[in-house]
Amino acid sequence: MQTAALLKTDAGETTEFPIPAGVYAEKVVSVKHYTDRLFSFRITRPQSFRFRSGEFVMIGLPNATKPVFRAYSIASPAWDEELEFFSIKVPDGPLTQHLQKIQPGDTVLMRQKSTGTLVTDALTPARNLYMIATGTGVAPFASLVRDPDTYEKFDRIILTNTCRDVAELAYGDALAELTREDPLIGEFAGERLTYFRSTTREASERMGRITSLIESGELFRAVGTEPFNRENDRVMICGSMAMLKDVKALVEATGLVEGSLSEPGDFVVERAFVG
Ligand SMILES: Cc1cc2nc3c(=O)[nH]c(=O)nc-3n(C[C@H](O)[C@H](O)[C@H](O)COP(=O)(O)OP(=O)(O)OC[C@H]3O[C@@H](n4cnc5c(N)ncnc54)[C@H](O)[C@@H]3O)c2cc1C
Repeated sequence: MQTAALLKTDAGETTEFPIPAGVYAEKVVSVKHYTDRLFSFRITRPQSFRFRSGEFVMIGLPNATKPVFRAYSIASPAWDEELEFFSIKVPDGPLTQHLQKIQPGDTVLMRQKSTGTLVTDALTPARNLYMIATGTGVAPFASLVRDPDTYEKFDRIILTNTCRDVAELAYGDALAELTREDPLIGEFAGERLTYFRSTTREASERMGRITSLIESGELFRAVGTEPFNRENDRVMICGSMAMLKDVKALVEATGLVEGSLSEPGDFVVERAFVG
């Protein structure tokens, strides 16, 4: 087991930091930058690490004796040999001001236990599963749309991705395309995965907050479904607190009931960040 890691400090020096107990130290495999606010990265997966698609873990960097850990949705499915994450870059963020500089070969720390509410086991089966995401909230759904179990439980998956600008949609766009083309998961996803995207600030072919697009019925018309109803629909929601509150109110108004692992229901919510 690795007990120390070498990492470059902001001054450009390489220093050795201890790995805290109960934490995996994994290597960065690849990094992809989308905008000045968003990037994704993949790390090696510890052999003993198990998780359910849709869960999150705590990650940090070995750049201090007491490293800062933050919650991160695992964006890769449970069967993947590596772990993928989709991240914000907060200019003065205690973690992401450093995390945005990682390169292949660097070490990322990960606490050993995953958890979360965005798991299919917290929902009862139905025809359609809507995944409502804003910003980095698409990350847990990147895991779930690539998991065959999701397609075993639901006939149709409707993934919505709303960001301020078009460039911020790129991770979700690529996800939808790669999932349909993937030799393993494409067989399940095929025509059953529908991708619906919108922007709230920059002009694009579809503009508007997801709440407005639900309320006006535009979402349902575009994907060829009926407005939410308890018999056919299940909903997972991940985004800012304001978005969660508004979409939760909309789905509750149609009679859907919140679920959990102990009591599976019709919809589940999780914050994409605190603040
Ligand atoms: C359950 C859960 C899952 C999460 N999953 C992810 C994930 O998959 N990817 C990810 O990038 N972040 C995720 N986050 C947020 C993450 O934990 C950190 O907040 C983020 O990495 C920034 O860390 P920081 O230390 O740099 O800044 P922080 O001090 O944590 O945040 C500073 C401020 O930046 C803003 N901010 C933080 N995160 C985001 C974000 N994701 N989108 C927009 N604004 C943000 C907020 O206003 C916050 O107050 C998740 C949070 C929770 C609670």
